[in-house]
Formats: sequence, structure tokens, C-alpha cells
Amino acid sequence: MPMRLHDTLTRRLRMVAPLEEGHVRLYTCGPTVYARAHVGNFRTFLFEDILRRWLERRFARVTHVMNLTDVDDKIIRQAAAAGHGLHAETAPFIDAFYEDLRTLNIRPAQHFPRATEYIEEMVALIERLEEAGVAYRSAGSVYYRVAGFPHYGRLSGARAEGLVAGAGGRVDADEYDKEDVRDFALWKAVGADEIGWDTRLGRGRPGWHIECSAMSMALLGESFDLHCGGVDNIFPHHENEIAQSEAATGRQFVQIWCHSAHLRIGGEKMAKSMDNFATVPDLVASGARPSALRYMLAAAAHYRKPVNYSDESLHAATESVDRLADFDARVRGYPPRAGENEARVERIAEARSEFGAAMDDDLNLPGAMGTVFSLIRVLNRELDDGELDSASYSALVGFLDEVDDVLGVMELVANERTGNSLSEEDRALLDLRRVARERREWSESDHLREVLADRGIVVEDTGEGQRWRRL
Ligand code: AMP
Ligand code: ZN
Repeated sequence: MPMRLHDTLTRRLRMVAPLEEGHVRLYTCGPTVYARAHVGNFRTFLFEDILRRWLERRFARVTHVMNLTDVDDKIIRQAAAAGHGLHAETAPFIDAFYEDLRTLNIRPAQHFPRATEYIEEMVALIERLEEAGVAYRSAGSVYYRVAGFPHYGRLSGARAEGLVAGAGGRVDADEYDKEDVRDFALWKAVGADEIGWDTRLGRGRPGWHIECSAMSMALLGESFDLHCGGVDNIFPHHENEIAQSEAATGRQFVQIWCHSAHLRIGGEKMAKSMDNFATVPDLVASGARPSALRYMLAAAAHYRKPVNYSDESLHAATESVDRLADFDARVRGYPPRAGENEARVERIAEARSEFGAAMDDDLNLPGAMGTVFSLIRVLNRELDDGELDSASYSALVGFLDEVDDVLGVMELVANERTGNSLSEEDRALLDLRRVARERREWSESDHLREVLADRGIVVEDTGEGQRWRRL
């Protein structure tokens, strides 16, 4: 069965059919690095990680790009207040972000482009928009002319129209420089003493939306497969990205737009501005296990439904993870007996195919896990009064490997249970080796295996990628 995803633009389930045969190109909007990301942000990043992992099972190749927004008004204000440059301001938050990705076992994107490194691409894109007649200069800044793009509002529908209706309400500081209230800044003029770049557009700094259009097209091409973010990205961010990219190229920017619902706390969206947020290290320090956090954020509800953060939901996730890990340990520790229990092999195969069908059906991970837990219930009973035939053993181990290739919790559980967590350096070496294997650089990957062995870490290559254990 082909894999389908809900497309926000057409409001339909659409088949994932990469424009380039066998190669999915995926862009996900990353964090604005003015503070440590909170677990609400990580709900979205975990949805994207599950998506990436499932795509990697279904297609030969996935190229994943996640931007880091390392320039915006808040970052500039903070840097100015601290009396240092942008880089000094954002570097600790970028490091913290990578550390949280590792804590939650999120696969790193192949590219993490930073906005400040793509100023030239943004300037060139803005120039193309000027040539196309959809950008204009005013008081030193450059704005996008929404009236010049007939498809504006297709992604967000009513929300973009609401902006027109509500135009009388809120007036931005730059309101008087714009032709139309809907227009947005592509390039903002700044004074000589402010942080900015001297470019062909004059001295200024980029608007937020242009960075994602410029970086995604630079790294993935003018037309690519999937673009994701949280629902709050739909308007205005993604609506504006479409307007910018399509007006410049005349081509369809993205095949499928996917958006995940929010993490809430006490019924409200978790947000930095609401002061109701918690970070990954906050929660780990208060006793949350990373495996349970990962499970709660990624698998407790379908990605298009909100999740409420609470002690109970974390507790339920902890139980689910333990049930899975206990079963996994039990199966792998069982001495298999030669033979084949046909009915059991058949049941495992059915569960595996239901798991895949649920994942293919708009990434229904909670449904897929329901199938896994039903199988666990039945088999736990059977294992109490019997033995495991070798055919079922192989089928089960294969299935459990597949489940965890998507869910990504077993390694976290193993570390939690043994206190055996990896050092930063070991983790970095494993990441390097994974990338070397993806690039088929076999001598480099063999070399890294030896380096890791010298550090007491044995790496094995399985059909599901590399696994490590201590010597
Ligand atoms: P930001 O750093 O604000 O640009 O957000 C980074 C990503 O986190 C975006 O894709 C947002 O849509 C997403 N996000 C922000 N708050 C939440 C939340 N409470 N739940 C889920 N995703 C969120
Ligand atoms: Zn973006």
C-alpha cells in the first residue's frame, strides 16, 4: 500500500510520490535560537522525526533539511543588550538544541542551514521577486506585494482573509510604508549602528519568511516533496513561503504540506511567550525518562491531534515504553526451540502488516502501537506456558526491530536502565559512522568502528542500521 499523508493545502490525504524516483526531499522549519527550545517545539520535531524514519523505511533515500533561525528581532535585541554579536548570542542555544535532539534520539537532519549563512541567496531571491513585479521598495525596506500573487491564501484559507477583514484593528510600526496591510517585509532597512548586512538591497536584515524559501530551494531545489512544521506555521509563515517561492520560480514549491497539532499544558498551547513551558533538561531533572518523553510527545496521540502534557500522560507513556521494553527483553532472552508454530508466525506477520498499514495511513503511530500492544498481550500469555519456536522468534525479532526503528525508544531505555549513557564524543563518533555508511564510505565506517572499539563500544550493523553495546 502506498504511503499517504494529509496535505494542508488540498485538505486531503495525498500519496507520497517523490518527484525524483526513490528520493524524498523534506524540509522542516527549525527553531528560532533565542532561547532553549521547549518540549512543545519538540512535539513538532518528534513528529518530523517519526515521519523521517518512516520515509527512510519506505524510500531509498531521504534528504532532510532543518533550518536554524539565527537572526530575528528578539535575537538582535538580546545580542545588543549583552554587548556581543549574533553568533555569541545564538551559539549556546544551538548547542543546547543539538544536545536535546540527542537526548530524545531524534535523527539529525543532513543539513542544518543557518539564516545568517544564506544572506546572499535571500538577496538574490528578493531581486527575482522585484523583477517579477511582486516586491517593492519603501523607506529602505523591501516588501512583498500580496496583491501580485493570485494564489495568496490557498494554504491558510480563512486566516489570510481574516487579515484583510481585521485590517483596521492592529497597526504595525511599518504599516505606513506598505501598500497593503497584507504585505510583509522581505528585507528590513536598519541603521548604521544596528546589526545588519550591507547588500545590493542596501543595509538591512532579512524578514523571517524569506530565509526558509531561500534555504529550502538552495538545498532541495525549486520544487520538492514535503514541508512541515507546527500548525502555527501555516499562517503567515508557510503562506508567505509559497507566495515568495512560486512568484519567483513560476513552479509549484512543495508537493505536500504537513502540520502537527500543538502540545498543550493545562489546556493552553505551550509557548515561550506564555511562560508555561518546560525544556527537555527541566523535565529530565525532575525525573522524566527521555524514552517516556519521546513516547508521550510522538505516540500518545495522532500528530494532527493536540496532546496535553501532564504527569498522568507522562506516566502512561512510561508504562507503554516499559511494557514494550520488557517484552523485547523477554523475547530476545527466550531460548528458541527449532520448529514453526504456523498460526503464531501468521499472527506476527498480520500484526506487522497492520503496523505498516497504520503508518502508511497518515502516519498513524498510536494506531500502529495499538497493534503492537495487542500482539504483546496475546504472546505474553502464550509464552507463560510454552516456548518460542524459532520461526516465530525470527519473525518477532524482525518486527520488534522495525517497530523500534520508527519509535526509537529501546536505546534510550537501555541507557536509562543501565545508567550506561553515551558520552558526547562517543555519540558524535556513532553519528559520523552512520553518515559514512549512508554515503557508502566503507573504509571510513570501518575505521570509525575500530575507533569506537578502542573506546569500549561494539557496533553492529543490522538491517535496521547500526546498533551499539558496551564491550
Ligand atoms: P519556533 O522556535 O517558535 O520557530 O518554533 C519551532 C517549531 O515548534 C515550529 O514548527 C512551531 O510550529 C513548533 N511549536 C511551537 N510551539 C509548539 C507547541 N506548543 N506544540 C507543538 N509545536 C510547537
Ligand atoms: Zn520556516
